[in-house]
Amino acid sequence: MTKVNEQFLKLPNNYLFADIAKKVNAFKVTHPKTEVITLGIGDVTRPLCPAVIEAMHKATDEMAVQSSFRGYGPEHGYDFLRYAILKNDFAPRGIHFDLDEIFVNDGAKSDTGNIQELISRDNVIGVTDPIYPVYIDSNVMAGRAGEMTDGGWSNVVYMPCTAANGFVPQIPLDRQMDVIYLCYPNNPTGTVITKEELKKWVDYALQTDTLIFYDAAYEAYINDPDIPHSIYEIKGAKKCAIEFHSYSKTAGFTGVRCGYTVVPKEVTASTMNGDRIQLNALWNRRQCTKFNGTSYISQRAAEAIYSPEGKKQVRETINYYMANARLMLSTLRKLGYQAFGGENAPYIWMQTPSGTDSWKFFQDLLYGAHVVCTPGAGFGPSGEGYVRFTAFGSHDHTEEALHRIEKWS
Ligand SMILES: *Cc1c(COP(=O)(O)O)cnc(C)c1O
Repeated sequence: MTKVNEQFLKLPNNYLFADIAKKVNAFKVTHPKTEVITLGIGDVTRPLCPAVIEAMHKATDEMAVQSSFRGYGPEHGYDFLRYAILKNDFAPRGIHFDLDEIFVNDGAKSDTGNIQELISRDNVIGVTDPIYPVYIDSNVMAGRAGEMTDGGWSNVVYMPCTAANGFVPQIPLDRQMDVIYLCYPNNPTGTVITKEELKKWVDYALQTDTLIFYDAAYEAYINDPDIPHSIYEIKGAKKCAIEFHSYSKTAGFTGVRCGYTVVPKEVTASTMNGDRIQLNALWNRRQCTKFNGTSYISQRAAEAIYSPEGKKQVRETINYYMANARLMLSTLRKLGYQAFGGENAPYIWMQTPSGTDSWKFFQDLLYGAHVVCTPGAGFGPSGEGYVRFTAFGSHDHTEEALHRIEKWS
C-alpha cells in the first residue's frame, strides 16, 4: 500500500496566489468589461535588458554548433558565472569566498525551500512574521512545523514585525531556536535591516549555535548606503549563515530562472554525538544528487548583467520600478494611509484602515477600485491588518491604480 506523506495534508489547501487568482477571476466573470489592475503578485513586468538578450542569443547559437554545444553542466554552476559573482557581488564589499562556496541554481525559491533538508527534523525554526511562505511551508512538508493553530504552527517561533515595533524583529528570550530565516529587504513588508540590527542576529547565532538562512533576493533594490546587501558584511556571519540570491527581481529573470546560494565552508552543524559537520559538503552532496544544473543559456544571461552595459541597463529597470514605489508611497500617505517599505524594496506594506480584515480589504479594493493587492494575512499571523502592493507594474498602470484608489477612498 502506498502511504502518502501526511505532512502535506496539514498545509492550507491553496498557495496564496492561487487563492487570489480565483477571487480575481470570479470578479472578472461578473464584470467582463472592467479592466482590473494587478499590484498583487510579486512578478516583474519589464522585458530583459539588451545585454542579457544578446548573451542569450549568443549562447543559443553556440548550442547549434557541434564544437561549442554543451550538455550537462556542473551541478554547482559554470565557473564563468561563479567568478563573476565573487568579483561583483562580494569582492567590492570586502567579502571573499572560494569558488566552491557558490552554488548556482535555478532561482532562490528552490534553494530556500530545499535547504531545510540539511537539518534534522527536530530543529526548531524561527521566522520573522509576516514572511515569504516558502520557508514555513517547506518545513511543514518535512514534518518540522508541528500543528496549525490560531497563532500559526506550533513548532515555529514567530517574531512579529509590525508598525508597533517599527518592523524590527525582537530576539525572543523565552524560546530556543535552532534555525532562523531572515529576508532583507523584506518580502512582504518592503522594510530593511540596519547593520546594527543584523549584527545582533549574527552575534545571537554565534552565541547560541543557531544557523541563519538569509534571503537577499531584493538586495539590488537597496538605495540607502548604510543598509547591508549581504549578511557577510557582518563579522562572524561566515560561521553561521547561508545566503540566497536571485536574478529574478534583480534582472527580471522570473521566467529565465537563475540565482545562487552561498554556503561558506565555515558553517557547520552538530551531529547527535556532537561532531561538527560542514554544511557546504552536505549541500554539494545534495545538489549533485538532486539537481542537474541551470541551463547554460540562463547562466550566460546571468553573467551578462555583470558587464558594464548589463549593470547600467539592470539599474535602469530597477530605477523604473522604484519610481513606482516612490509614487505609491507618497500617494497612499497623502490619502491618509499608513504605508511602509518602498524605499529600499519594490513593495509597499499598507495598514488597512481601522484594522479591516486583510481579505476583506482586498475584496473591497477589487470591487470598489478594480485594483488587486495581496492580503497580508497570507504571509503569516502578523500580516493581518495589512496589504501588500508591488511596484512591479508599468508607470501607467501604477498611476491609474493610485488614481482609482484616490477616487474610491
Ligand atoms: C521572489 C523571491 C525569491 C526568488 O524566487 P526565484 O525562485 O529566484 O524566482 C526568493 N525569495 C523571496 C523572498 C522572493 O520574494
